[in-house]
Amino acid sequence: MVAVLRYLGGACRRALGCFPGACGPALSRPWTLGGGGRSASTRSFDVAIVGGGIVGLASARALIRRHPALSVVVLEKEKDLAVHQTGHNSGVIHSGIYYKPESLKAKLCVQGAALIYEYCNQKGIPYKQCGKLIVAVEQEEIPRLKALYERGLQNGVQGLRLIQQEDIRKKEPYCRGLLAIDCPYTGIVDYRQVALSFAQDFQEAGGSVLTDFEVKDIKMADGSKNGMKYPIVIKNTKGEEIQCQYVVTCAGLYSDRISELSGCNPDPHIIPFRGDYLLLKPEKCYLVKGNIYPVPDSRFPFLGVHFTPRMDGSIWLGPNAVLAFKREGYRPFDFSASDVTDIIINSGFLKLVFQNFFYGVNEMYKACCLGATVKHLQKFIPEITVSDILRGPAGVRAQAVDKGGNLVDDFVFDGGVGDAGNRILHVRNAPSPAATSSLAISKMIVDEMQQRFEL
Ligand SMILES: Cc1cc2nc3c(=O)[nH]c(=O)nc-3n(C[C@H](O)[C@H](O)[C@H](O)COP(=O)(O)OP(=O)(O)OC[C@H]3O[C@@H](n4cnc5c(N)ncnc54)[C@H](O)[C@@H]3O)c2cc1C
Repeated sequence: MVAVLRYLGGACRRALGCFPGACGPALSRPWTLGGGGRSASTRSFDVAIVGGGIVGLASARALIRRHPALSVVVLEKEKDLAVHQTGHNSGVIHSGIYYKPESLKAKLCVQGAALIYEYCNQKGIPYKQCGKLIVAVEQEEIPRLKALYERGLQNGVQGLRLIQQEDIRKKEPYCRGLLAIDCPYTGIVDYRQVALSFAQDFQEAGGSVLTDFEVKDIKMADGSKNGMKYPIVIKNTKGEEIQCQYVVTCAGLYSDRISELSGCNPDPHIIPFRGDYLLLKPEKCYLVKGNIYPVPDSRFPFLGVHFTPRMDGSIWLGPNAVLAFKREGYRPFDFSASDVTDIIINSGFLKLVFQNFFYGVNEMYKACCLGATVKHLQKFIPEITVSDILRGPAGVRAQAVDKGGNLVDDFVFDGGVGDAGNRILHVRNAPSPAATSSLAISKMIVDEMQQRFEL
């Protein structure tokens, strides 16, 4: 029988890999299947959304709010919601400065940040608009910093200023730098708490959530050409199934596999990149007031190791970007033979390694050698020493890579072909800042569904 979520208070504390401090008081409310939701035995839905991370939950919420008559279900493989990328990230509300003007990332981040602040205000979810400095510490970084500033202005980011050394010191008394972008609109929040609030809204509007439901197969039902109302069958690994009319997949680190098993394109493939964080010891947290970021290397989508305050008052340093030998593997030695084989046989990966060999080796070296990371951090805050830091948690990024070995930079949404493919919409690449952008992404997904599925 299909397992129905009974999301009991405190369940998040047991959550797989839930980051410390991620479970606020708002999460302890007992949850059951939403009031208007279908009963436990109901197996047919108008729309099934695969993936209970922030993108899937925001999309489910947006869909049911716009189309209250639809029956919508979220299918999640874990026992709890939002425990992968959504529960393992820096928690930064990005302003939209980094992204190529006119790209989806730029537009959806700027819109999404405003929507997240508004949502948190409405729901009383705690956040801090603590701002961010992007700091040039070497002369050669200054032209790139100025170009980034221009890009931020083009993207319409609020409140940006270029500031000199003395103003850097006023904002961050322990930070050294030649020139910085002051970005007061940046904030921090607990994205898992936001995602669980989306789930609660969705259930209160009548949506259903099935956890412990790992989707293994998506196909047309036998005899579906005879005008069946729910022609798509979704099976899980336990042999249980549901039927639906349309599917949206938001499977994060498994977005390529879900696409492939539904008969759609396996490309772009996902390569998992682990990001390890270090923690500043509590007695040294006074060294950092807001977010401090380096000038990013424009060849990579990662923003570089940064100093990030957390909602619980701790300070995280990171994340780096090293190849993960297991999707959803949060410990350095986590290994999955099938995931590694998948990475190696993907031709795009070998090209990626060839093109970025020295960057990869350097990241691996810094991941193993704390002293090397601290040396980098000292360029910003010279007072920091190895004895001030502890090893912290990690996250794994779902990074899409195309056949040519290029990191896919923008968000990617894709449909399929054929009877089943025409009824499916896949979110193929939703890397950072997809948590910030989640409410804007969800609006776009519902617009796309409306058009594609004629809802
Ligand atoms: C280290 C790190 C730092 C980051 N920092 C930031 C930041 O500061 N700000 C920001 O905006 N973004 C940040 N991001 C990015 C952000 O966290 C992600 O873009 C966002 O969480 C993606 O959400 P998602 O719902 O697509 O994926 P996920 O949260 O990974 O959710 C996907 C869900 O699909 C489920 N699933 C997968 N396969 C199946 C299946 N077969 N059947 C059923 N369910 C399935 C998974 O269990 C999972 O719950 C960061 C990411 C990482 C990893």
